[in-house]
Amino acid sequence: MAEWVNGVIRSRQESIDSLCSSSAKTTTDEYSDDDIKDEYDIDDFAIIKTIGTGTFGRVLLCKNKQTEDYGAMKILSLADVIRLKQVEHVKNEKNILQEIHNPFIVNLLWCNRDETCIYMLFEYVCGGELFSYLRNAGRFTTSTGNFYSAEIVSALEYLHSKNIVYRDLKPENLLLDREGHLKITDFGFAKKLTDRTWTLCGTPEYLAPEIIQSKGHNKAVDWWALGVLIYEMLAGYPPFYDDNPFGIYEKILSGKIEWAKHIDPVAKDLIKKLLVQDRTKRLGNMKSGAEDIKRHRWFKGIDWQEVIQRKLIPPIVPKIMYDGDTSNFDDYPESDWRSARTLEDSELKLFDDF
Ligand code: AMP
Repeated sequence: MAEWVNGVIRSRQESIDSLCSSSAKTTTDEYSDDDIKDEYDIDDFAIIKTIGTGTFGRVLLCKNKQTEDYGAMKILSLADVIRLKQVEHVKNEKNILQEIHNPFIVNLLWCNRDETCIYMLFEYVCGGELFSYLRNAGRFTTSTGNFYSAEIVSALEYLHSKNIVYRDLKPENLLLDREGHLKITDFGFAKKLTDRTWTLCGTPEYLAPEIIQSKGHNKAVDWWALGVLIYEMLAGYPPFYDDNPFGIYEKILSGKIEWAKHIDPVAKDLIKKLLVQDRTKRLGNMKSGAEDIKRHRWFKGIDWQEVIQRKLIPPIVPKIMYDGDTSNFDDYPESDWRSARTLEDSELKLFDDF
């Protein structure tokens, strides 16, 4: 549920899905495929503490008992995955994460399951969520917003080139690494496209009109969400806001945007071209694809080769006191994930190819 404190949204609606009601390595570059071991067992890791909770499941800081490397272990109870009708999404998440390698996308190091849980080991991205930095700052300066947008455009262009639509872009899913570069996390709603796709999923504030109207949707939904994200970074709150999801949907479909005063006019021009109802006229979704966005005046002076090489200078450098520092993450109540229900053989069949 979204909650306003002193005129600022502190939290927002959860992601939804219509089908249900260092030794610490911190950058992708430091890992090679050799780091991805099949032979790990969950007991090879010391679980330290919860650093995040998702729509279902939780993410825990862990330490490889042998190498002493830190990692982020996402643990999903199989029973919950079935109950919340997320089997296909979890399979998509794993298959997609195994296929992709990009400096701005969190690196999956190992994945396994037993009769109770799925385990996904990621590099530990120690800087915390962009969401926390944005709420602390109120809003970002134009140049800060510009930096993060450039890294996201680069990541989305990469995903789309592989026919993958991300479908859950928002500051909660963007982490900062040790140097302050972005890493996109949570591929629970990502999907490899064949044609258009029809599932209603994402987060209300960031849903494109065609998702709400069940018209089938494609990569254009990510460019819509980029428009929402740039607005939220520069204004400090999203362009379509209400206490309940239906109010948000009405505002999205109304085509009206109330402009916050301090949004830079050039950024406003780009946002307007991204928040276009008709997806065939939306920037990023036309003949030249992401090139149209990269050539927009707001990105004038950006060398896109330098972006992908992580050569732009990050505007925020997270404070990290020691390897395994979790001070950039909120505290969460711990729960005993080991007590998850063991599945019956018939249920386990659903995860045969996992
Ligand atoms: P997810 O279920 O993937 O959305 O993850 C939930 C939350 O856990 C994220 O919003 C982050 O705060 C945290 N998280 C996920 N992956 C990582 C990671 N690789 N490193 C650090 N924190 C993470």
